[in-house]
Amino acid sequence: MKKIIIILSSIVVIIFIILMIFLFNTNSKNKDIDNVKDKETTEKVKEKEDNEFSKLSYYKKENLDRYKAYKTINPDLSIEDIVTRVNLNLDKEIYTDTRPSTNLNTNYLLVNKFNYLDSNYIPENLELLNNSYAKSGIYLVKEAKDNIERLIDKAKNDGMNIRVISAYRSYSYQENLYNNYVKNDGVENADTYSARPGYSEHQTGLVVDVTRAFDDFNNFENTNEYNWMLENAHNYGFILRYPKDKEDITTYSFEAWHYRYVGVELAQKIKASNLTFDEYYVRYLESNNN
Ligand SMILES: [Zn+2]
Repeated sequence: MKKIIIILSSIVVIIFIILMIFLFNTNSKNKDIDNVKDKETTEKVKEKEDNEFSKLSYYKKENLDRYKAYKTINPDLSIEDIVTRVNLNLDKEIYTDTRPSTNLNTNYLLVNKFNYLDSNYIPENLELLNNSYAKSGIYLVKEAKDNIERLIDKAKNDGMNIRVISAYRSYSYQENLYNNYVKNDGVENADTYSARPGYSEHQTGLVVDVTRAFDDFNNFENTNEYNWMLENAHNYGFILRYPKDKEDITTYSFEAWHYRYVGVELAQKIKASNLTFDEYYVRYLESNNN
C-alpha cells in the first residue's frame, strides 16, 4: 500500500513539473510577440515623425524617396507643392514613365505628358458644332458642346464675338500635326506647344480652342473676348487649361485660347482654388477614385 502511494505521488509531482514547464514556455512566447509588436509600433511612430509629407491626403508612400529628393533640389517649395509635383511625375523627364489615362468618358479625365489615350480612343457622344458657333466640321462631346453654345450666346449678349476654331482631334490628326511641327521646328520646341499623339487633350473631345471672330489665335490674349472668358468661362464648365506662369506644372507654354470642359461645379471649384487642372486632379480627384 505504501509503495502505491509513493508511485502515485511521484506521478502527481511529474505531471506538476511538466505543467509548469509548459506554462513557462507559453508565457515567454507571448512576451516575444509583445516585444515584436512594441518594436513595430515604435518604427511606425518614428516613420511618421521623420516624414513631414505623410500628413497630406494625397501622400503616396511609394513616392517618399522622390519627395525627399525633390525637396533637396527645391528647398523653397511647400510640402503641398512637392507632393503634388512628384505625384504628377514632374521630377521626371516628360514622356517617360507614362501610363494610360483612367476615368475615360468622364469630365475629369486627365491627359498630359505622363497620361495618354490609346490610339483608338474615341470619346462617346461626339456631336458636330453648329456653323454659327464654330468652323465647319468641329466635334465636341455633347455636354461640352451644349455648354460652349450657351457660353457663346451669353458672350454675344455682352457684345463679344467668340468662335471655336478647333475641338476634338483624332489620334491620327494629332500625329500629322505634331510631326509637321517637329519637321519645321525640332522636337524640343514642338514639345513646348504641341502634344505628341495620344497625349493631346483635344483627343478627349472636352477641349475648345477659341478666338475672336476667327482671328489668329495668337492674338486672342489682346482681345476683350479673352478677358470675358477669364471672368465667365467657369460658369459654363470651362477652365483655362495652360495658364501663364504655370508652365513648369502644365509643361506647356501659356495658351490664352485653349479651354477645357470639366463641368460647371468642378470648373467653379478649380477656378476658386487657383490651381491648374493637373494640380487639382492630384489633390482632390485622383485619390477619391483609386
Ligand atoms: Zn488647344
